[in-house]
Amino acid sequence: MNIESVFTALGLSEAELNNGDLAVTSPVNGETIAHVKVHSASDVDAAIAKSKQAFEAWKSLPAPKRGELVRVLGNKLRDHKEALGALVSMECGKIYQEGLGEVQEMIDICDLAVGLSRQLFGLTIASERPGHRMTETWHPIGPVGIISAFNFPVAVWCWNSALALVCGNSVIWKPSEKTPLTALACQKLFDLAAAEVGDIPDGLSQVIVGHADVGEQLVNDTRVPVISATGSTAMGRKVGPAVAARFGRSILELGGNNAIIVAPTANLEMAVRAILFGAVGTAGQRCTTTRRLFVHDDIYDELVPSLKKAYSGIRIGDPMEQSTLVGPLIDKQSFDAMQAALDMAMVNGGEVVGGSRALEETYPNAYYVNPAIVEMPEAEQTVQTETFAPILYVYRYSDLERAIQLHNDVPQGLSSAIFTNDVREAETFTSAVGSDCGIANVNIGTSGAEIGGAFGGEKETGGGRESGSDAWKGYMRRATSTVNYSSDLPLAQGIEFNL
Ligand code: NAD
Repeated sequence: MNIESVFTALGLSEAELNNGDLAVTSPVNGETIAHVKVHSASDVDAAIAKSKQAFEAWKSLPAPKRGELVRVLGNKLRDHKEALGALVSMECGKIYQEGLGEVQEMIDICDLAVGLSRQLFGLTIASERPGHRMTETWHPIGPVGIISAFNFPVAVWCWNSALALVCGNSVIWKPSEKTPLTALACQKLFDLAAAEVGDIPDGLSQVIVGHADVGEQLVNDTRVPVISATGSTAMGRKVGPAVAARFGRSILELGGNNAIIVAPTANLEMAVRAILFGAVGTAGQRCTTTRRLFVHDDIYDELVPSLKKAYSGIRIGDPMEQSTLVGPLIDKQSFDAMQAALDMAMVNGGEVVGGSRALEETYPNAYYVNPAIVEMPEAEQTVQTETFAPILYVYRYSDLERAIQLHNDVPQGLSSAIFTNDVREAETFTSAVGSDCGIANVNIGTSGAEIGGAFGGEKETGGGRESGSDAWKGYMRRATSTVNYSSDLPLAQGIEFNL
C-alpha cells in the first residue's frame, strides 16, 4: 500500500489534500504529504452554528434510530479498516498492526454505542410522598467539542462521537495539527454512512482543522456545552479552567506516568512481554505507556537482564513493514525531549542503556530511536514528568507498601499494573490502599485497554472517563422529575404551608 492508494481508498482527493497552508509531514520519512486548509475564526463560528442547528433536529430522533447511523458508521470502518489503519500508520508513525488495532477500537465502540442506543436508561426513585412518582431521565445536551492528540488520531474521536451521537448530540472535532488527514478521512467515512442512512442533519459531525487557537475558540464558546479534550496536562491546565469559567462540562484525558510492579511470585516471562509492549509499543507515545518499573529485589537480577535481552531484539523501522515493532517518534521536538530526559536521568545517577538515534542514514529527516532502559538508584521520589518517548525507568523495591507509595507519589494517575501470583498482593494493589490510578491491572500491562470499561485517570490525568461502563452519562444532561398523581399537594420534608 502506498500513500496515494490509501488516499484514494479513503476518498481523499488531490484538491482536498492541497488546499491550504498546514503542511502535514509523515514521521516515517519526514516528507510532506499534504498541505491542508486551516479553518479561520469565522469558519469555526459557522461550524458551531451549524452544529447547534443539527443538534436541534437530531435530539428529537429516537435514540435507537440514532444508533442506526452509528451502526452504519461501524460498517464503513470495517470496509475501510486496512486503508484507515495504514493512514494512521503513515501520518502518526505507529506500526500498521497498531493502526489496525486503533480502527478496530473504533468499530468496537460503534458496536457498544449501538447497543447503548436502546439502553440510555434512568432510574425510578422511591418518593416520600403518597401518590408521587420520582424518576431520573437522561437527555441530549448539545454540540460536543472533541479535541484530540496526535498519538490516537482516530480512536479518540470515535470513543467520543459514537457515544455523543447515540446520546443525541452533534459533534465538532478539532484533531491534532500533526494528524489532520486521518480526521478528514474519518469525515469521509461519516459522510458515506450519513448518505446511506439518509435524512441526517447537515453538520451533525464536522472537522475543524488548526492549531491551539482553533481549539481555544471551541473551548470558549457557550454553544458547546461539553468539551472532551485529550492531550498533554499542559493543554488540560488551560482547557479545564476555561470551560469551567463558562460553566461548561469538560472531559479531560491528559498525560500519564504509568508503572508496573513486578513482585517475587510473578510469572517473569509474562511480565517481560507485557513490559516490552507497554514501554516500547507506539514508540513510547501512548498515554498508557509503561514509564516506571518497580522490581522486587529477589527477582531483579533475573528480570532486568531478560528485559535488556528482549530490548536488544526489537526491530525498529518503517512502521508499515510487517516485522517492525517500533516506528519513529512524531518529530524532532519529541526526540530532543527524550535526549534531555536521558541527560537528566544520568545527572540523577541513572544508568542508561539505549536511547540513541536509529536509522539516521536511511531517514535523515525522521526520528527513530533505540528504546531506553534506565536503572535508577534508590530515591525519595521517582520520575515526576511524562516524556513522550520510549524511556523505562527501573527501580528496585523490597517492601510492597513502600513500592505502592512511590508508585502513587507522582502527579499523574492514569494506568498501573502489578505482576504477582500472590492474591494478597493483587488484592492490595487494586484496593483503596493500592494504586490510585483510573486503571489498575493484575498480570496484564498498563496499555491496551478494552472499550467496555470506563477509560481515564485521576489527578493531573484530568479525571475524565470515556468509552464503556457509564461514561455515556458525560454526554447527556440529567433531569429529575416528580409526578404527583394524587389529588393532594403534600410538601417534601412534611412542611406545612397552608392558608
Ligand atoms: P497536545 O496537548 O500538544 O495537543 C493535544 C490537542 O490539544 C491538539 O489538538 C492541540 O492542538 C490542542 N490544544 C493545545 N493547546 C490547546 C488549547 N490551549 N486549547 C485548546 N486546544 C489546545 O498533546 P499531543 O502532543 O498531541 O499528545 C500527547 C499527549 O496526549 C500526552 O501527554 C499523552 O499522554 C496525552 N494523551 C492522553 C490520552 C488519555 O486518554 N489520557 C490519550 C492520548 C494522549
